[in-house]
Amino acid sequence: MSKNPKTRKPAWGPATVAIHGTGKIRKAYHAVSTPIVQTSNYSFENTTEVLEFMKAKAKGIIIREHEYGRYFNPTQQEVERKLAAIEGAERAITFSSGMSALILTVLAYVKKGGHVVFTSDCYRQTRDFANNWLTKFGIDSTFVEPTADAIEKAIRPTTNIIFTELPTNPFLRVIDLATVVKVAKRHNVLTVIDPTLATPYNIKPLEMGVDIIIHSATKYLGGHNDLVAGVALGKHALLEDLNKLERMAGATPGPHTCFLLERGLKTFGLRMEHHNQAGLAVARFLESHSKVEKVFYPGLKSHPDHAVAKKQMRGNGSVISIRVKGDNKQTCRFIDALKLFHITPSLGGSESLVTQMAVMSFFDYTPEFRQALGITDNLVRLALGLEDVEDLIADLDQALKKV
Ligand code: PLP
Repeated sequence: MSKNPKTRKPAWGPATVAIHGTGKIRKAYHAVSTPIVQTSNYSFENTTEVLEFMKAKAKGIIIREHEYGRYFNPTQQEVERKLAAIEGAERAITFSSGMSALILTVLAYVKKGGHVVFTSDCYRQTRDFANNWLTKFGIDSTFVEPTADAIEKAIRPTTNIIFTELPTNPFLRVIDLATVVKVAKRHNVLTVIDPTLATPYNIKPLEMGVDIIIHSATKYLGGHNDLVAGVALGKHALLEDLNKLERMAGATPGPHTCFLLERGLKTFGLRMEHHNQAGLAVARFLESHSKVEKVFYPGLKSHPDHAVAKKQMRGNGSVISIRVKGDNKQTCRFIDALKLFHITPSLGGSESLVTQMAVMSFFDYTPEFRQALGITDNLVRLALGLEDVEDLIADLDQALKKV
């Protein structure tokens, strides 16, 4: 919860903003780094102070930010200030995970008997939330191709949220955001975008008219494979309901997580520049490799959304999906031979990661459903870290030779 709702749009570049936010502020003990305020309670001096605080709060006036740890903490306040500045948002609300940001956002804004349009290539847990949980409350969902046209066709009179990732996961589809915003405005529907894979370094959806952005800050924003967090960003007044729900649920990140996230942001510009360059170089290498059947990366001309990505994104990050030329056994041989990639289902950190999607993320789906989603045994998602690009290429090359 930022005290100053109108975040000033700084004239600086993304790396500078990620370090300074909208400008220097005085911190406790004149510390340059943000102190970790490890407390669950914030005390009042006397009963008069409590009464004044409660009276002001009842009128919607916040005379001091800190009351109880489930609501908010000072380390969180600083990281939210930075995240809002990076995204050019009036307000940022941080969460204990990307999923808690996503779930609470949908719950805060979906209407009784409502309907949500999701795009089909998406994080598996997002799909499960819609299919297994929203249905419990009588809220329908439709999953469509990630195109503005398909979204518009799926809109019903009860639709009140359009939700899409950008790029999508794992096929890195890039939807034309300007057209999606036009569709949403035409039908008076809220747009919620998850640009975790793009990051604010590569696209600023709020500037394009999107209502709310959700990020898994676990990924590129944190950037070091060492924290789990989420963030929602948008207009101050719009996010007030979400803020209330988060405080009630206690989905706030702990002070130490906030410290790590803010620390990660200090190298955000440097890291993203590296990720963008590494992603393109490795995608080009993989596309030219005889043991690779197909590469999915929006920076490549062969990608169906290359033109859209070029139009609206600064770069394409470092998540690359490939189909290995071979069956399950050969795909496993490739993965097991990698020396620099950890087998794990995440992305956006300093260490390179590799995921065999059919096994790790979609294992308990039926083979037929996996097939329908394009999740074949030879589909592998690579999330490049910050290692030297030549070393990554050499590692991938030696592992592919085992296929
Ligand atoms: N959105 C996307 C695109 C993701 O890839 C993920 C996780 O992988 C999430 C949201 C959920 O984030 P978290 O793991 O921080 O809850």
